[in-house]
Amino acid sequence: MIDKNIPKATLHEHLTATITPERALKIAERNKISVPEGLISPPDEKNPRGSFNYDLSDINNFFWAYDTICNLVINPIDYYEVLHDFLTYSAAEGAVLAEFQVSPMYYGVKDKHNVIDAQVDEGMYNDIFSAITTAMADAEQKTGIVSGIVAVSLRSWGNRGVMKVLDFIEKHPNPLYRGFGFVENESFGRFGDYDEGIRRALKEGYRFAPHAGEQCGPQSVWDVLEYNPERIGHGIRSIEDPALVEELIKRKVTLEVCLSSNHALLPLYKDSWESHPIRKLYDAGVKITLACDDAGMFGTSIGKEYEIANDILGFTDEELKSFTKNALDASFIPEEQKAAIRQKAGL
Ligand SMILES: [Zn+2]
Repeated sequence: MIDKNIPKATLHEHLTATITPERALKIAERNKISVPEGLISPPDEKNPRGSFNYDLSDINNFFWAYDTICNLVINPIDYYEVLHDFLTYSAAEGAVLAEFQVSPMYYGVKDKHNVIDAQVDEGMYNDIFSAITTAMADAEQKTGIVSGIVAVSLRSWGNRGVMKVLDFIEKHPNPLYRGFGFVENESFGRFGDYDEGIRRALKEGYRFAPHAGEQCGPQSVWDVLEYNPERIGHGIRSIEDPALVEELIKRKVTLEVCLSSNHALLPLYKDSWESHPIRKLYDAGVKITLACDDAGMFGTSIGKEYEIANDILGFTDEELKSFTKNALDASFIPEEQKAAIRQKAGL
């Protein structure tokens, strides 16, 4: 059972992929898009928000489902509803903070397969980004949950992509843009390929939270330590190199651990929950937080991730609270907001 009284936080949510199956069906209908048969089931007793049905034995099926479902989300109202749903049900489970990975230019381009070279439609970007920030403000006003944003570049865009994303944010400044990161398959590029872009982002004051150590092993984490990230998305395969674990502890790097996502996507951890290295990393002294990654796609929620850690992996209530404390410490939201959350949540 999800204990609503334990304050929870997530630093790693891909915004559009938080979509619930129930909302996806409604949006598909409104946007007159036909959904592949069987992909989305409406809510029932077992799945109160509905379910996405796709075969995870082939990773390409996941990418196909991910694209098909996220591409249903088109209009500002769609984004508003998807985000508002996630924030309000997360708050009802006890969540006090959520940070989202967003690719800013994506919101101003219709052809999502060619974002890097497309002309951004300024009106479209403004309307969608405004819907996103309004959903965040409305949810905060209703429930108290605070939101943040990590702007990301795709690995396959190379260094040019990083520069474009930074140029774009410079032209469209918003106080929510505080963090910077990388998404997409880790094998699409190494951090050294983006050296110029990463150094520019750091110089311009962005806080760094890239994905690493998920599909690729410890070397991907060593590579990114070159740039002193404060947080790493996943980073769990650091466990394969004891010297790296020591280095993470020494540098106080926080790992954004996504149990359901790892269990679903990584062959290393598919066999059992217990094969996941979270316990070993935690006991060694690495700073750990919990997150969903793609809450909708994996049919999970922040409450469920805490529940898995508690019920299946044996983390105590105090240990669960330490995940939330670590998330607040490592969050990119302003210090005064953190202090207010700490006081209200008793952390
Ligand atoms: Zn992720």
